[in-house]
Amino acid sequence: MPGIDSLTAALGGSLSGKRILVRSDLNVPLDGTTITDDGRIRASAPTIAALADAGARVVVVAHLGRPKGAPDAAYSLAPVAERLGEVLGRPVAFATDTVGDAASETVSGLADGDIALLENVRFNAGETSKDDAERGAFADQLAALADGFVSDGFGVVHRKQASVYDVAARLPHAMGNLVGTEIDVLRRLTDSPERPYAVVLGGSKVSDKLGVIDNLLGKADHLLIGGGMVFTFLAAQGLEVGKSLLEADQLDTCRDYLARAEKLGVTIMLPTDIVVDSAFPSGDRAPEPSVVAADAIPADSLGLDIGPDSAAAFAAALGKARTVFWNGPMGVFEVDAFAGGTRAVAQALTEVDGLSVVGGGDSAAAVRRLGFTDDAFGHISTGGGASLEYLEGKELPGISILED
Ligand code: ADP
Ligand code: MG
Repeated sequence: MPGIDSLTAALGGSLSGKRILVRSDLNVPLDGTTITDDGRIRASAPTIAALADAGARVVVVAHLGRPKGAPDAAYSLAPVAERLGEVLGRPVAFATDTVGDAASETVSGLADGDIALLENVRFNAGETSKDDAERGAFADQLAALADGFVSDGFGVVHRKQASVYDVAARLPHAMGNLVGTEIDVLRRLTDSPERPYAVVLGGSKVSDKLGVIDNLLGKADHLLIGGGMVFTFLAAQGLEVGKSLLEADQLDTCRDYLARAEKLGVTIMLPTDIVVDSAFPSGDRAPEPSVVAADAIPADSLGLDIGPDSAAAFAAALGKARTVFWNGPMGVFEVDAFAGGTRAVAQALTEVDGLSVVGGGDSAAAVRRLGFTDDAFGHISTGGGASLEYLEGKELPGISILED
């Protein structure tokens, strides 16, 4: 574990009996109280197990969803505690509060090698507060529960939040195995990637993801664009996109990217055909997909996947790449009728002769939903936002604070 030696030294030479607060990313998709994808729990388990094996009293802190800074039963981590126990094959005590009496009692009840999970850290307004003092006061409470801190929640290292950033400033700390692995892979993508280097971008958070293109234009050889983002690019070229996702205020940005890519010799591949429907899929109506040319999207329809020709062209381009990073599904993969593009790209990634990386919560869930196993890819990142910000060249507060 990166930095574990200095943490151990700071704690007197052994972790045995020491209370170690571990920030994990256990933000899994839930259907009621059923966990629909436990990938993040499985990815977090090795660090927790290693600390427990070293005799530490492990106190895991994590968030689930976006509760509004107050307890909300719909976002309780209780089902996650149960699943974590199953994955680890050992008991996990659950504290019904993040700090305060319930938390301190749970922590004092731990013996060496025991594990506890604290209730959703975002039930506390201090966690995500923009006010340094408010965040700091909450971080003080968290720090009081532990002797040392291990940062292993890769999905949140781009956030300046109490349990990610401020608590690291208050306790001897180390980077967990998961964060260490993620950063290693991202370094391989940014420092001299094997070429050709292709990046596939899709998903629905268009404006969030446009920023990364800026930086990638200087690094990647090919940018393949699908998902909701594609319609802003098509519209930037003067095409009709009907009712598809569109960020009208980003048209100039997209035009600028297309022009710069051409100057730099970077290919931006856009789909030439699109799967459309007259409405966004909902439970009330069976999908009626049809394939149209990208320059003939009817005004009353919306694009929900890249078409089969585009999927084949994307797969062929990826087949020649030696390094591939993919973030964001190519379509609304949750519905079979619109999953074809995502499936084709996923399949192509499994065949890459080199490093293939899947990043993003929904992208990771998509490949699993479509039946691919984790080991079919070089790496599945647990953090979409964090990996994109790293690739954008931004500083990740949760990483910088560990390096100080
Ligand atoms: P990630 O979590 O991997 O970063 P995002 O959260 O950005 O990905 O996007 C995932 C979502 O994007 C999925 O729920 C998918 O249904 C949606 N999506 C993909 N293509 C489209 C599209 N053309 N229109 C609307 N939504 C889309
Ligand atoms: Mg997402």
